[in-house]
Amino acid sequence: MEPHATQQRPRLLVLGCGFAGFSLLRRLRLQAWDTTLLTPRNYFLFTPLLPSAVAGSVELRSILEPARRRLRHVRVIEGSAVSVDWSAREVTCRGAVGGEVFTLPWDHLVIAVGNTFADFGIPGVAEHTRKLYTVEEAQAIRRGLLEQLARAEVPGLTADQLRQRLTFVVIGGGPTGVEAAAEIHDLLEEELTQAYPELVPYAKVVLIEAQDRLLSGFDEALGTYTRRHFGREGIDVRTGAKVASIEPNAVQLAGGERIDCGLILWAAGNAPVPLIQTLGARCDGRGRLLADAFLRLPEHEEVFACGDCAAVGEPPLPATAQVAQQQGAYLAKALDDRRRGRTVAPFRFRAQGMLAYIGSGQALADLPLIKWSGRGAWFFWRSVYITKLVSPANKAKVLFDWIKAHLFGRDLSRF
Ligand SMILES: Cc1cc2nc3c(=O)[nH]c(=O)nc-3n(C[C@H](O)[C@H](O)[C@H](O)COP(=O)(O)OP(=O)(O)OC[C@H]3O[C@@H](n4cnc5c(N)ncnc54)[C@H](O)[C@@H]3O)c2cc1C
Repeated sequence: MEPHATQQRPRLLVLGCGFAGFSLLRRLRLQAWDTTLLTPRNYFLFTPLLPSAVAGSVELRSILEPARRRLRHVRVIEGSAVSVDWSAREVTCRGAVGGEVFTLPWDHLVIAVGNTFADFGIPGVAEHTRKLYTVEEAQAIRRGLLEQLARAEVPGLTADQLRQRLTFVVIGGGPTGVEAAAEIHDLLEEELTQAYPELVPYAKVVLIEAQDRLLSGFDEALGTYTRRHFGREGIDVRTGAKVASIEPNAVQLAGGERIDCGLILWAAGNAPVPLIQTLGARCDGRGRLLADAFLRLPEHEEVFACGDCAAVGEPPLPATAQVAQQQGAYLAKALDDRRRGRTVAPFRFRAQGMLAYIGSGQALADLPLIKWSGRGAWFFWRSVYITKLVSPANKAKVLFDWIKAHLFGRDLSRF
């Protein structure tokens, strides 16, 4: 049967091709639905390996799944939702490439648009820091790192100038900040010693966290272990340090200290994407859409929210890939159960634990029954990520990237 041939099938419109939207569409019984995916990019991005892509231990293309190839029988439209007309049941959209404005109708709408960075009103964050949510941002950080190495090679620089260019500041001691700091440190450690040995004494990674500990979502002992490990590795960790403002090449701390640096990565918190504020729907204190135990918006029976943009449960579940993926999988079944008039069970999150890479071949595994750190946890981290990657092609590519980086080093070409 032609996938979009019949008018009988309910029209399902999914906004966003992240962990939640992609997981939903991979599991949905597509024959029963007239399904459209609206996504600004034509791929699914496996974000847990984005910090590794910044440092060049995996290639960006190895962690992207082309949406049209992986989601056959889904109409994929490249664009962003701009607003929703609840009574007409239409979403106004803007084309990703040409910026054309168009509308898409729906009978059931799934909002899975993720989130973006929060600047907490701190001056300079939006303008002068790099963020790490997208492929383009990962490329820009990687280029920024390599540019600083190139700028540090210019003859005649003073020691202070060298130190400034080769200081890399990561703000935010959650998993993304910790992994980014670890990966950047690995890159400097492994590659500078070979390619730029004279610069090694000037290079430094600084990790700034406002709370008193790193990785507050993890078991406390693992946070303490990470701090000690970073100390041994020469990563300068500042906990209990609040950022007052950011300048083009400097971080001003509330305590008065100023850190001159070559690159600043902001990984300190999430905020809703602009679409959410236009919806007029009820949100929690962090601006996430309030959804009930069936992931429905209370005001709109046929509208669902899942992943990072939704607040589900009390306290709300954390914004993680695991939650988003399980919610997407749940919705695939729940939508079908509703369509068939079956009883729909509420969503239940099954925590499988958390993993984080902390550099120099070590990782953390905070699992329900065991807390684990070090080399063994790193092997575990790698094997879990290989299994979590979606396609056999990407599993093979990532494995190959790791072997290649181990045998031949990372590619430091700047382009
Ligand atoms: C660098 C990094 C590392 C991470 N590491 C981990 C990890 O190790 N483990 C873990 O559990 N979690 C991790 N996370 C968090 C995890 O990526 C998120 O929790 C997860 O991606 C949430 O899935 P989602 O589908 O809600 O949103 P996303 O995956 O962010 O997807 C949202 C999608 O919506 C699209 N979109 C945005 N606005 C619109 C619009 N207006 N219209 C249409 N589409 C729109 C976006 O382009 C995006 O494709 C990491 C996040 C980052 C950034």
